[in-house]
Parts: sequence; C-alpha cells; structure tokens
Amino acid sequence: MIKIMPEPMPQQSIEQIRNSGEACINGAVHKIRNMGGFDFILLRTGREVIQVVWNRESLGEPSCAEGDYVRLCGSVVPEPRARLGFEVHGRSIEVKSAAAGGMPVTINKNKMNLHMDNHLKYRPLVLRNPRERAVFKMQEGVCRGFREFLTSQGFTEIHSPKITAAGAEGGANIFKLDYFDKQAYLSQSPQLYKQAMVPVFERVFEIGPVFRAEPHDTSRHLNEYTSMDLEMGFIDDHTDVMRMETAMLRYIFSLLSDEYAQELAELSVELPDASAIPSVKFMEAKELIEREFGRPARTYQDFEPEEEKLLGKWAQQNHGTPLVFVTHYPHDARPFYTMDDPADPGYTRSFDLLLGGLEITSGAQRIHDYGMQTEKMRRMGLDPDDFESYLMAHRYGMPPHGGLGLGLERLTMQLAGIENVRYVCLFPRDINHITP
Ligand code: ATP
Ligand code: MG
Repeated sequence: MIKIMPEPMPQQSIEQIRNSGEACINGAVHKIRNMGGFDFILLRTGREVIQVVWNRESLGEPSCAEGDYVRLCGSVVPEPRARLGFEVHGRSIEVKSAAAGGMPVTINKNKMNLHMDNHLKYRPLVLRNPRERAVFKMQEGVCRGFREFLTSQGFTEIHSPKITAAGAEGGANIFKLDYFDKQAYLSQSPQLYKQAMVPVFERVFEIGPVFRAEPHDTSRHLNEYTSMDLEMGFIDDHTDVMRMETAMLRYIFSLLSDEYAQELAELSVELPDASAIPSVKFMEAKELIEREFGRPARTYQDFEPEEEKLLGKWAQQNHGTPLVFVTHYPHDARPFYTMDDPADPGYTRSFDLLLGGLEITSGAQRIHDYGMQTEKMRRMGLDPDDFESYLMAHRYGMPPHGGLGLGLERLTMQLAGIENVRYVCLFPRDINHITP
C-alpha cells in the first residue's frame, strides 16, 4: 500500500543552491562553451541560468548535449565574476531526457531576432529563451499584483462563463459558436456578469480570457486576450474607480520591483511613475492635441492611434509620466451600460487609461437604475426584453457601481517596450494563427 503524505515535492531555490556546499540541480543544458581544459556549461533552471565549470582533464568530456534536460551535481563555489555570484564545479551529470539534434531555432542567445512567422511557429521552443520567458514571468507579477491588491481591498474573485447567449460589448467583433441546436457566442467581456455580482459581493474581480473577432491585423489587437476586470459598488462616480486603479498599479509596480527585479533588468524595464496620474476630459484632450502638436481632430468619435501617441507624449513632457487618464467620452463612443454625466450632456462618466500612448484600460460608472437603463437601451436601438436576466439586477436593486477592464497583454507590452502584442501572449490567436 502506498500512503500519500501531504508534503509537496520541494522546489529547488536559487538561495538554497547558493547556500549549500554541494548541490544537485535540475535543469536544461542551455549552452556548452569549450574553453580548452574545461567547459562552461550554462544550466537553465526554471528561472535562472547557472554557470557550471566542468573540468575535462579530470572528468573527461561532459556526457550531455545542448538542449538535454539533466540532473547535475557538484560543489557550489562563490565566484564574483559569475552573474549569480557563485558557480558550480560539476562532478556528475545524469541525462533525464535527451534533445533531438538540429533544433529549428537557436534559443541560447540573448535576443531571438526571428522573423515573426518563425517566432510564432516555434513558440514552444522560443519561450525557453531567457529573455522571452522573462516577459511572462513579469506578466505573472502583474496578475499576482492585481489579485493581491484587490483581495486586500475586499474584492472577491469570480469566474464568469465564456460561452454566452449575447454579446456584452455589441458590435460585429463577436465569434459565433455552434451550441447544440442553438446559436451561442464567445464572451467579449465579463461585463454583464461582473455587474450582476456587485449586489452579491459589492466588490468583484476576474482575470480571464475574452474573445474579439477583430478582423484586422494590428500590432495591438489579439483575437483572444486576457482581461483583468473589476467592478465595485457604492461609488460616487467614475473617479472612485480611477483612484482604485491608480493604487492598484502602484501596488503592481512595487511588487515587480521587489520580486521581479531580475526580469525587469533582463528586459530593461523602467517602471512608470504612478504616484499622480494626470487626467483630462476627452474634448480637452482633442483640443490639446491640436494646440500642442498642430494636429486637428478628424473625428470626435474616439481617438485615433496617432492621437493616443501624442497624448502619451504630452503626459510625459508635462507631467513626467507615460500614464494619462482621459475621461468623459461622448456617449455614442461607449456601450449602453455607461452612465451619462448629468453635468455634461452628451458625455459619459467614463475613462480610459493610456500608457505610453496606448489604451490599456476602459472603465466607467455604470447605470444602476432600471428606468434609466431601459430608457438608454431604447435610445440606442436596443430592446430591453433581450436583456431580461441582466436587468434583473437593476429591477431588484443594486448599488451605484463602476469598474474597468485592463488588457493584460497591453499593459505587458507597454511596460516591456515590446512593439507587438503577439510577443507578450504565450500562444497568440490572430487572424493567421490558431496554432501552436
Ligand atoms: P481598442 O479601441 O484599443 O481596440 P477597445 O476600446 O475596443 O480597445 P475595450 O472594450 O475598452 O477595448 O477593452 C478593454 C481593454 O482591453 C482595452 O483597454 C485593452 O487594454 C484591452 N483590449 C481590447 N481589445 C483588445 C484586443 N483585441 N487585444 C488585446 N487587448 C485588447
Ligand atoms: Mg476601450
């Protein structure tokens, strides 16, 4: 009989290895550099690359090849010239899994520099490159920070369905799905469900996939991305949500600098200053773009990508931060659940947050009043009868509330200074890629 005990298998940590005289380390043979009498073997573990010295004269040729997954034992020796401050003098190598020769991409270099087609085609291999994987380790920190901060603020984490009967955001960018004998859709946003949960928990958040059938090939749109959403009750207006986001970003940035310093260094990330984020109204932003940069607005529907870039530049030059809030979007630019601003007819209590000239968040105060919501639906040509279950919340009472959606990949690409959103998504889905 086997008894399963509750102790988990221990994880090798770099500090444990550093402080042990002798160590056996699991990892991949990242690179072997023949130095004559000895070899440098770079051993890639789950987060590090450890320098191993292999003495050929006393041990013979190392019995492993680049790419192999091995268990390597040896003594740990302080070495100030090694990046980690120590190296391992190898004694034995056990190959756990040998790599086939002729890997189609070379992963043991600093930067991959591949054409995008190959980069994406060989994604499972490319992601082993230390710089590539640093992006996703940092991304872990972003999600962790979001979750930790919101949990500390009394938010409850929820999981809403991704198969839905109708779209939340409207518009044409919705994927259809055969669902037995019915028509279903892939969720464009957890919006309607997170609102339904405000009367339950008061504050909720979700980190999950959303699907957008954007037919265009841009550097900032994926067809499946990870949305970090929150929704909170008993607010006075959208500025309460903006304050929450500002505090949340500050928490994320301090977590990144405390616990992800090596990834930030690998990617040369300079974290933005989120101590005080400037905020301008939509129409003021249009005016300042024209005034400061001589570019008259061509549309008052939304911002064009170039306008977003100029706003980012303005924030950097005038406020010393690449972050800027824009508030009060015109009401036809925003979905039906957005609260109109009673003080500013035609405009809404809504906001976007831009980072480095790219939208990373949209948020707003939502309508909580049943009469106001059904009236706005009708005004926008929607039939309230199609939203029966959604409107249950409004009809039977819900707190004044608001929230936001933050694109995980958009935030990651802007922090890491990576120019295409595909590179900050593990296995991106775009019009040309559904594998790997
Ligand atoms: P954009 O105008 O930039 O296309 P949007 O206003 O349509 O974005 P929202 O519905 O406001 O997008 O979604 C909230 C957030 O989700 C955005 O601020 C952005 O960070 C992210 N996001 C939206 N669409 C995509 C996409 N196709 N790929 C990656 N991230 C996205
Ligand atoms: Mg938006």
